[in-house]
Amino acid sequence: MAYKISNDCIFCGACADACPVGAISEGDGKYVIDPAKCIDCGSCASECPVGAPNEE
Ligand code: SF4
Ligand code: SF4
Repeated sequence: MAYKISNDCIFCGACADACPVGAISEGDGKYVIDPAKCIDCGSCASECPVGAPNEE
């Protein structure tokens, strides 16, 4: 299981700063989470202003 960022992402970058393992990077039009690195902590979901990161 890993978190995934939906197309609601407004590209603010807050989640990338909040991620403790550096799993989030800039993708094409939205930020993306590397499922191999994500430890399911939920920090990105807590920081996101639009609720884009969701648990798969
Ligand atoms: Fe990073 Fe935690 Fe979000 Fe996974 S759930 S991408 S580890 S902040
Ligand atoms: Fe996108 Fe939310 Fe991350 Fe901002 S915090 S880059 S809106 S997923």
